[in-house]
Amino acid sequence: MIDQSTGPAAEQWDAAVAAVRALGGDAEIQLVCHVSPDGDALGSMLGFALGLRRLGFTRVRATFPGEFRVPTPYAQLPGVAMLVPEQAAYRAPALVLVFDVAGESRLGGLAAQVAAAPVSVVLDHHASNTGFGTIQLVDPHAAATSVLAEELVTRLGVRLDAEIAECFYVALATDTGSFKFDLTTVAVHELAARLIATGLRPGDISRRIFDSRPFGAMKLTGEVLGRAVLDPAAAGGRGLVWTYATLADLARHEQPPYVLDTLIDPVRSVAEADVSVLVKQVAEGEWAVSLRSKGAVDVSRLAISQGGGGHRLAAGFTGHGEPGDLVDRVRRLLDDYLI
Ligand code: 5GP
Ligand code: MN
Repeated sequence: MIDQSTGPAAEQWDAAVAAVRALGGDAEIQLVCHVSPDGDALGSMLGFALGLRRLGFTRVRATFPGEFRVPTPYAQLPGVAMLVPEQAAYRAPALVLVFDVAGESRLGGLAAQVAAAPVSVVLDHHASNTGFGTIQLVDPHAAATSVLAEELVTRLGVRLDAEIAECFYVALATDTGSFKFDLTTVAVHELAARLIATGLRPGDISRRIFDSRPFGAMKLTGEVLGRAVLDPAAAGGRGLVWTYATLADLARHEQPPYVLDTLIDPVRSVAEADVSVLVKQVAEGEWAVSLRSKGAVDVSRLAISQGGGGHRLAAGFTGHGEPGDLVDRVRRLLDDYLI
């Protein structure tokens, strides 16, 4: 695992800059982010892709593994025209850049292509990052991957414009929970200020990405929250709250899976519980388990023990069986990962 208490070393930054500068303008550059991409994955990747275009690179493609579906809130991001399905990714790019990916398991069918690339630069901020790739720009203290992406484009001599800034702002706003989480430092607000100064309208962006959803998604949220269970004795008495959502729930309300991405937020607001769990069905018998803690439990280490990963207070893994059994397993593990 990466140990980067002070962020990427100067040599790593220099190596990443040199890797880009070594390329001719017509070199094929492939950008990749994680499966089921969120605002940080897409925003950091597309902002960087636009930066490469500004530098004169003409062959830039961005992709992610799995079904080629861009969550509606991110479908209008600048640079989205550079997004292609994984099948259309460059076969043998001169350079691969990887965004917001903690480990190769999050790259699905693209893992082999990334591993085969002559140079792969990994920009990430997960505590559970496995250290894959040839050049690592990994900082677990960064609030978002876009913090690293912005630093790299700036080091490459790109001047921020409103399109690049919108991508990085969306990434920063989503991964900080609208500038609420612990990693929202002075430097984060200074970066936000630089991005807004390009002419962004934060109110419009927030409405689009946080405060706009279909009626069916709202009804679905109501049902999923309605079946939440509180277990005050769990985590050494710090409390656990959990609920689940099935593919049938999504189908009944005619909603795509991404509407479940932010459903953990109302669950984790429960005052009586430190730990919150949302179990989301991804296939028959297969579930994505989202974990959050307010500080009592290192859910990243818990998730790693189950084959997943994430951040200390926000992590996840894929599990099999029934939601209740998965939560029982999490409940038993909580005591092992108390902070
Ligand atoms: P979420 O619960 O919002 O899906 O994910 C929370 C955090 O945990 C994110 O940083 C995400 O990258 C990470 N995460 C979620 N599920 C997995 C997983 O199955 N594997 C890994 N390595 N990380 C995950
Ligand atoms: Mn992220």
